[in-house]
Amino acid sequence: MIDLPVKKRVFLHLSGGADSALLLYLLADKIQKENLDIQIDCFMIYDKIEMKLQCEMLIDYFDDLFPTVRFRLISKYFERNGNNKASEIYRLKLEVLESYDMPEEDTSFLLGITKIYPGGEYRGGDDHTRDGRKWIGRSYVPFSHLDKNDLAKIYNELKLDKLFSLTHSCNVKPPIEHCGKCYPCTERLGAFGKL
Ligand SMILES: [Zn+2]
Repeated sequence: MIDLPVKKRVFLHLSGGADSALLLYLLADKIQKENLDIQIDCFMIYDKIEMKLQCEMLIDYFDDLFPTVRFRLISKYFERNGNNKASEIYRLKLEVLESYDMPEEDTSFLLGITKIYPGGEYRGGDDHTRDGRKWIGRSYVPFSHLDKNDLAKIYNELKLDKLFSLTHSCNVKPPIEHCGKCYPCTERLGAFGKL
């Protein structure tokens, strides 16, 4: 159902939200079960230290859950000064990739974003690419045919309550509080029935 192409190294944009955390879980599960020699590099950018701490907490959780899988967190600070977040993420990602110690042909670039929530209208500036494409640039998007309801079902089936509680989706409040009003919060609440 979910195609996870992996090469020698996986490069994943970890936002700290439910989508990228689930993608990381499925990847780690596959790598552990199939006993693959693959490292997962998680890239994140943050403008508040709480965001970095939350992603570190997620990685600690994954380290315990998948002791045979290697995770590395690559974090970059950015100053929010009215810049469009998408272009800032892109610029910082390029910076990281330029100093990346693995040839591009040996790396899978994965992006954990979903389709727009049914009836939802995303008005944020940074996720305008949620249009069902399997590829966004060099990145493969395994959840592009799924929406948040589908992801909530997978969380339920796999009993990932603990993982869900470590994720953060809010655009307004720092991790791991939720305002309950912004678009990611309403999407999260609609699909999971809780924040
Ligand atoms: Zn919110």
